Amino acid sequence: MRSGQRPAALLIAPHPDDLAWSAGGLITGMHAAGRVDLIVVTVFDRSRYAPCATVTDADSISAIRASEDVAWATSMGAERTALGLPDSSLRGYDDFTELQSQADPDLVAEISSRLSEVAMRVAPRLLLAPSGIGNHVDHLIVRGAIETLQVRRPTAWYEELPYAAQVPAAPPGAGWLPLTIGVDRYWEEREAAMQLYRSQDPQHVVRTARAYARSVGGGRATAVEPGHTMAERIWVRDPEETASILAAVTAGVESGWTTH
Ligand SMILES: [Zn+2]
Repeated sequence: MRSGQRPAALLIAPHPDDLAWSAGGLITGMHAAGRVDLIVVTVFDRSRYAPCATVTDADSISAIRASEDVAWATSMGAERTALGLPDSSLRGYDDFTELQSQADPDLVAEISSRLSEVAMRVAPRLLLAPSGIGNHVDHLIVRGAIETLQVRRPTAWYEELPYAAQVPAAPPGAGWLPLTIGVDRYWEEREAAMQLYRSQDPQHVVRTARAYARSVGGGRATAVEPGHTMAERIWVRDPEETASILAAVTAGVESGWTTH
């Protein structure tokens, strides 16, 4: 257990940028409330993927991506650590196979063990985790690792962008229910923070995230407070419990869920 007074939220990212792309409004809302310590763990932080960088070697790209991730975490008031693992681009996958492959059970076990250590130390009030939407193999590995943690904590599974915008909305896990988070108040800050990931083509992702947040806030899930236009969606086993935790750890973020 940590010795600090405040509870913590443990925010898990397969790659640098996943949290900013996918759950930046919710995280900004937690930061604004100041009721929890935010702890970011980036799992696969070794990479050679950087469409907007001028360098091409893995060391340089990993360093650029780490500095972007640290800048984003700092802007969210979060403590950031990374596990130092090579991402799919360094493990022999290409743009096609990384979306068509099963999670490697050895990697799942290794990451589960390492994240269990963190979860035991932090004892988070809430775990924010990637749902695996889009089937990126690194995301599936991290999801598998979190599903087998030795420590069970209330878990909110975020929809990964830009993938979520490209597939039909469906529960990523059996019995998971959607919880819609209205993030109008934090949208501007969310977009500004996304721009910190300069090597990852943020303009393109911002456009996708904006359109997706409008579609989630305006249509398919109905329980966001009237007047909300921008929303993020998480998937949970117990929407009532998660909504109550979110109400306790955020400010100005309304959550709602559909019962059908
Ligand atoms: Zn990712």
